Amino acid sequence: MKKRILAAFFTALISTVLPFFVPSRSPSPPEPGKLWYEPPKRISAADSEVRLTLFDGDNVTELTMEDYLFGAVSAEMPASFDLEALKAQAVALRTYALYKLRVSPSDKHSADLCASSSCCAAWKSDDYLKEKWGADYPYYSAVIRSAVRATDGEYLIYGGEPVLAAFHASSNGATESSEAVWGRALPYLVSVPTPENAETVRSFEDRRVYSRGELSELIPGCDPDAELYSGEKLTDSGRLASVKILGVELTGRELRTLLGLGSTSAQLSEENGDLVVLTRGRGHGVGMSQFGADAMAKSGMDYREILAAYYPGTELVGQE
Ligand SMILES: [Zn+2]
Repeated sequence: MKKRILAAFFTALISTVLPFFVPSRSPSPPEPGKLWYEPPKRISAADSEVRLTLFDGDNVTELTMEDYLFGAVSAEMPASFDLEALKAQAVALRTYALYKLRVSPSDKHSADLCASSSCCAAWKSDDYLKEKWGADYPYYSAVIRSAVRATDGEYLIYGGEPVLAAFHASSNGATESSEAVWGRALPYLVSVPTPENAETVRSFEDRRVYSRGELSELIPGCDPDAELYSGEKLTDSGRLASVKILGVELTGRELRTLLGLGSTSAQLSEENGDLVVLTRGRGHGVGMSQFGADAMAKSGMDYREILAAYYPGTELVGQE
């Protein structure tokens, strides 16, 4: 009995005292430009605790992620959309903001984000929304706030980093890969099926007719007497990859820009010597389709399922 007590005493003594005799190893100095401590990327904070700077075109202001997302979701998606679609939009915008903050800071402005959809994402102030929504402001603002709060702190990662959560208005049956549009292949921005169509989206189709004279004003360096169009090539999602119009080889994106088309999902034909361009859907087609998200939500899918469908292989992380 005495032996056992003694043994226990010495064991306790060794485990308490010994560590003080072992010299503690100080961490080796970090390489230049590296931090002593790499902050864990997967841990996210509540939206009210994240502060960011926003350039609204005139001034740079500091605001919380919660207020940023209220203005961004309001500006980017109709408040009348299904709540699950609005939640998916909130997560996509939070993810995009964190991508800008942590992965790829903007070199176009000194603020973390700007309020332009052609650079970062659209954002509208509370005053603007009060004016726009009028009597519906209390209801719509409550809906948007609840979509943001219901997903507080949640964002999508791939390989441990926030992803480039691109989105667009609508697609014709399938979204487009980032590689086809930006020449940069990302594993979670690939072409996936999407449910919206002409019956569920207003102005889904846009038909335009161009004479040779009109085309020669819009397409620099073309020959008005050359073949109207030829050699159409399509991307995997069925969008226009390239085409020759009046002797000029153009990519689908170039044609979209020159003619101001809604999308590159463009079907060309000839009618009485004129060029007819029929486009379906709006936007670049990469990532989440907003009208597709709304259609998915109306068919009973929740925001997690919607995000998993449009950003395959990503993981939703953040607040529990
Ligand atoms: Zn920007």
